[in-house]
Amino acid sequence: RVVVGTKVDQTHVNWVTAYNMLTGIRFTVSRTNAKVNRDLTDADFDARHKFSFDITGNELTPSAKYDFKFKDYAPWVFRHLRSNFRLDPADYLVSLTSKYILSELGSPGKSGSFFYFSRDYKYIIKTIHHAEHKFLRKILRDYYRHVQDNPNTLLSQFYGLHRVKIPYGRKIHFVVMNNLFPPHRDIHQTFDLKGSTIGREYREEDLEKNPRATLKDINWLRRNRHLQLGPTKKQRFIQQMERDVKLLQRLKIMDYSLLIGIHDLSRGNEEQLREKNLSVFQPGGEADDPGSRSLMRTPSVVENARKARELRQMIKSQKPIPIGEAVYKMPEEMEENDRSMFYFYGDDGGFRATHEDNRPGEEIYYLGIIDCLTHYGFIKRFEHFLKGLTNTEPEISAIPPDRYGDRFVRFMSGISKSREVVDNERRASQTA
Ligand code: ATP
Ligand code: CA
Ligand code: CA
Repeated sequence: RVVVGTKVDQTHVNWVTAYNMLTGIRFTVSRTNAKVNRDLTDADFDARHKFSFDITGNELTPSAKYDFKFKDYAPWVFRHLRSNFRLDPADYLVSLTSKYILSELGSPGKSGSFFYFSRDYKYIIKTIHHAEHKFLRKILRDYYRHVQDNPNTLLSQFYGLHRVKIPYGRKIHFVVMNNLFPPHRDIHQTFDLKGSTIGREYREEDLEKNPRATLKDINWLRRNRHLQLGPTKKQRFIQQMERDVKLLQRLKIMDYSLLIGIHDLSRGNEEQLREKNLSVFQPGGEADDPGSRSLMRTPSVVENARKARELRQMIKSQKPIPIGEAVYKMPEEMEENDRSMFYFYGDDGGFRATHEDNRPGEEIYYLGIIDCLTHYGFIKRFEHFLKGLTNTEPEISAIPPDRYGDRFVRFMSGISKSREVVDNERRASQTA
């Protein structure tokens, strides 16, 4: 995994798409949030609104740099979801400002989806397949209910579902979701775990070239890694995972993973600071003098705080929010956000390891269940298609969602144990 990605500026091939995405989000989110809050109705779940942007602007939409169409899905549901997840509306808008703000991770998975980070690294935009898009709309009620009943859910937090289209271009569907990894802490190792070993290996030889790569189940087992959790945290963690997985099973979802970023407190933060100074997170998108932290503290920080206040005011007074303005916000200036009240994101944005006696441990885990929009029927059809092409059984055979989920929970439960328990087990096996 490339941690910081490539900055998307005006010279980037996906600049226009990124610009349109952000302009559309900014417009539709401020439009919905400008209204007086109300309870959801059944119709809110199926709602969709279409907007045309062009360079001149019209009575409905302000002028934009490019001509494009934007579709906003279930805006009221997502407004409620954002509020459930304790996002500040002004903060959300500031983070998703449409200038120099994204960095592109490219397409890390096999699916062809693109990932973009908001400039302050808090949010991820993921482009999704039409099938995933349709599926999210279909399960939105269940997802919403689950999030309400489970404030501490480990599932991806969805903040918005949209579509952009440029003239003669194809339709691009995308979701906005939480970045599990913190802007201010170095992630020393990343694992994407499914609880299976078939094809679940990152080639260790390639680690040299790409030391930040996302490792998989086999790499985890080979390192004899554990989620070092004492009894209290382990119980809470597994309990929540069971509830989340039950929903995924009922909705016939599979192929999701537990994404785990590990911050080693004894190693601290140095690498990331160095890296950030050299790459994306600079005010104005100019290259900074490497090593000079003070350069990052420019007046734009003050500017940002002012801008957020202004936006908050505008939202309150129901004024339209101007689009296309540059607002900068540096990760280290971010206020402690309200995520700290959530159990698994409460220790500096993550979940701190504990010992058997519940004393805090030496690692912080940033984790969650990701990629949970793949319906079983979709995979099956795809396998069928592959089989038709090659006339042989495909190697990675999809297992039904119930079994997938059970295996997932069993694996995660098996790898969650405190250091003391691991040591005892090792001693026991040596004397045996
Ligand atoms: P595939 O279907 O081939 O697995 P995908 O395109 O659906 O791939 P994901 O599995 O969702 O992609 O994610 C790919 C990688 O992107 C993850 O392994 C992780 O490194 C990163 N990633 C995805 N979601 C998040 C998130 N919410 N926070 C941080 N990193 C993420
Ligand atoms: Ca995946
Ligand atoms: Ca996927």
